[in-house]
Amino acid sequence: MSQPAAAGASDGQPEASAARTTKEETPASGGKEKPASTIPPLLLPLAARRALASLSEDVSRSRRSRRPEEGRQGRHGRQKRSKRVVTVDSSKAKTSSEALKMCIQQLKWKEFPTGRRLLCDIYWHGVSFHDGEVSCSGQVNKYPGMTELVRKINFSRAVRTMQELFPEEYKFYPRSWILPEEYQNFADQVRVSKENDSSWKPTFIVKPDGGSQGDGIYLIKDSTDVRMLANLRSKPVVVQEYISKPLLIDKLKFDIRLYVLLKSLDPLEIYIAKDGLSRFCTEPYQEPNSKNFHRVFMHLTNYSLNVHSGNFIHSDSVNTGSKRTFSSIVAKLSMRGCDVKKMWSDIITLVIRAIIALVPELKVYHQTYIPPGKPGPTCFQILGFDILLMKNVKPVLLEVNANPSMRIEHEQEISPGLFEYVASPVDEEIKVAIIRDTLRLVDPALKKAQLQQSISAEYSAENEKEEVIEAEAQDRTDNPSNKEQNLAPHCLKQVFPKYSRQFGYLLIVDRIAVLFIRFLGIKGTMKLGPTGFRTFIRTCKLSNSNLSMASVDILYIDIARRWNVIRGDRGESGMCFQAFMEAIFHLAQRRYKTPPLREQVEALVNFCEYQLETQEEKIALYGRGTVDRRPSLAMFQPEGSRSGTVNHMHLLNRVSTSSKLPASSLPTPVDQQLVNSMSSRVTDCSPAASFSPNGWDNLGCRFCRNNRQSCSVIGINDVRSQRVKLTQILHPSVTSYFM
Ligand code: ADP
Repeated sequence: MSQPAAAGASDGQPEASAARTTKEETPASGGKEKPASTIPPLLLPLAARRALASLSEDVSRSRRSRRPEEGRQGRHGRQKRSKRVVTVDSSKAKTSSEALKMCIQQLKWKEFPTGRRLLCDIYWHGVSFHDGEVSCSGQVNKYPGMTELVRKINFSRAVRTMQELFPEEYKFYPRSWILPEEYQNFADQVRVSKENDSSWKPTFIVKPDGGSQGDGIYLIKDSTDVRMLANLRSKPVVVQEYISKPLLIDKLKFDIRLYVLLKSLDPLEIYIAKDGLSRFCTEPYQEPNSKNFHRVFMHLTNYSLNVHSGNFIHSDSVNTGSKRTFSSIVAKLSMRGCDVKKMWSDIITLVIRAIIALVPELKVYHQTYIPPGKPGPTCFQILGFDILLMKNVKPVLLEVNANPSMRIEHEQEISPGLFEYVASPVDEEIKVAIIRDTLRLVDPALKKAQLQQSISAEYSAENEKEEVIEAEAQDRTDNPSNKEQNLAPHCLKQVFPKYSRQFGYLLIVDRIAVLFIRFLGIKGTMKLGPTGFRTFIRTCKLSNSNLSMASVDILYIDIARRWNVIRGDRGESGMCFQAFMEAIFHLAQRRYKTPPLREQVEALVNFCEYQLETQEEKIALYGRGTVDRRPSLAMFQPEGSRSGTVNHMHLLNRVSTSSKLPASSLPTPVDQQLVNSMSSRVTDCSPAASFSPNGWDNLGCRFCRNNRQSCSVIGINDVRSQRVKLTQILHPSVTSYFM
C-alpha cells in the first residue's frame, strides 16, 4: 500500500470561526473582577492567546505577591488562609504544551515552562516516564513501561493471555498472530477455518511492531502473501483479521479516538472521557479486494495519512469534515435509531477489559522503577484508545496509544511553501477538557477528599443496587464544585472501581503479577531468577510427588530460555512475566486435571495465596515482626465473580476481624440473610459443596477436590464455622479492610 509521508503527531483542524465558543470556555459570570483566564480563548488567534497567557501570568504573580500577608492574617484566625497553588513542571510537555498551558490558567495553578529548581507537584511529560529526570515525589503523567507494553506485539500478547483465560470476554480484539514467531500457527488456523467454512474469505492487515500513524501497514488475503513473507525477515509484525464490514457514515470508514485516564494502578482507577474524536477516511469505502488493497485513503483512518488527500475536509464545525467529535457521531447514530446506550456500555466494557489486560505487567515495570517503600513519584496517564465500530455497532479495539497527540493546533499552508500553526477547534474542545479534568483529578489538595469520596461512592450506594453499565458517558449533569470554579462539567467519568463488581473476576492475571513481584527478590529487576522460582514453588508448596524440584528446574530453564529467544532478550537472563504466566498455566494444568484453564489457574492462584497467607499468619503468631500484607493480593476479586467461579478460600481463612471493622463496613441484614441461606448449602468440602448465589461454587474444597474425605486445607467443620467471614466476602468494604 503506497503511503504519503506521515505528518507530525498533531491531528487538528483549521482556526476557529470568531463566533464559536465552547462549554468549557464559558466566561465567569457574576464575579466582580473577571479573571484573565476566563476569557474564551477560542475567540482569539493563537498569537493573541499566547500574549494573554503571559499577561494573566503577570496578574496572578501580582496577586500572589499579596498572599504572604493574607496567610499571616489567616494564621491569627481573622481571615481564611489562602490555598497553596499547585505547581506544574511543563518543561517536557512538548506538543501538549499549548493545551496544558490553557488548563493551568483555567485552574489558576502555577506553570513552570522551563522547569524549576524546587520540586513541583506535577510533572507533565510529552512522551514517556523517562522524558526527564525522575522526581522523588510529586506526580508524573506517565507510567514506566506503558510505551513498551502498548507496542503492537506486546499488547497482542497481553490480550492473548486474557483470551486464553476468558475467550468470551476478550472477543473485542481481532484475532492476531505475531510473526515470524507464530507463522505456522497463523497458516494452520487460517487453513482450518477455511476448510470449516468455505464462504469465509478473510482479509488480514499486517502491522509492523512499533509502527504508528499507519506507517508500513498493508492488507493481504493469504498467509502465503509474498510481500509479507519477504518483510518478515526484516522486522516482526502483527497480522490481524481485517474488519471488512465497518460502520460507515457518508459512505466513509471512520474510527474513534477515545481518551482514557489510568489514574491509579493500585487500587485500579479508570476514567473514560465522555467525548472523543472521530477520524474519517477520505475515499468512499468498499470491501477489500485485490484491486483496492493499496488504497490507503479508503482503508486506513489515520489523520496523518488522510490529511494528505485532496478530499480531506478541514471544518470549523465539530459535526462535519474529516475529523469530528465522537458526540456528533453518537447523535447521528441515535437519529438513525441505533442503540447508543448499548454502544457506550460496550465501549466502557472494552476499555476496562483492555486495561485489566495491561495492568499486571505494568505493575511489574512500576515496581522496578518505583520500588514500594522507596521515594518516587505517583503516576497517572492519559491513553488513546483507537476503536472501530462494526456494521452492527459493536466496538472493536484496534490499538492503545500510550502517547496520544494532545496538540490543539495543526499546520496549515497559508501560502505556497509557507506554513503556520493554527488552532483546531475540534481538538481544542476535546483535549483541553481532558487535560483539565485530569489535572483536577490529580490535584494534590483533592487527593484525600477524592479517596474518601470514591470509597463511599464505590462501596455504599453502588452496593445497594445491581450494577449495570449505563451510557453514563453521556450524562452531563452539573457538579456543584464545577460551578464554583466556573468550569465546564467533568468530562471524565469513573468506570473503575465503579463497575469493579462486574470485572473483578478478570483480575486473576493481576494476582499472578503480585505473586511474581513478591518472588522477584532484588528490587529493580523485571526477571525472576532460578532461585526466586524455586522459592516460589517451595513457599507455595507446589512441589509434590508429581512435581519434583528437579522437574521444576527443568521447567524454569525451558520456559525462561524460550521467552528470552522470543523477546530477543540478550541482556538480563531470567524469567520474564510472560514466561512466568506460561509456567503458572503449565503448573495449573498439571495440578488440576479438569479444564477449563481459567478454573485451573484460579485454583492454583488461590492455593498459592492461601499458602502465603498461612505463612504470614504463622509469622504474626510467633511474633517475628510485622506481616507484610501486600495490598493487591486479593484486590477486588470477591465481589467480581458473578459470571465465574472464583474461589474465595484465601479470604475465608483469614483471621476474623469483624470486631475491628467500622460500623459502615459491617455486613448488612441482606448480606446476613444471604450467608445464612448459603451456609446451609455448604455441607461438606467435596466438589459437590455448592455455594453459588453469584456463580461461586465449590467453596472450601477447591484445593482438595481430588480428596473427597476431608478438606486438607480448612477441614469440614471449619467451613461451617466461617459464617462471619462469609459475610465479609459479600461485603466489599470488608474485603478492602483486609487488603
Ligand atoms: P497505527 O498505530 O500505525 O495507526 P493501527 O493499528 O491504528 O496502526 O492501524 C491503522 C489504521 O488501520 C486504523 O486507524 C484503522 O483505520 C485501520 N485498521 C487497523 N486494524 C484494523 C482492523 N483489524 N480492521 C480494519 N481496519 C483496521
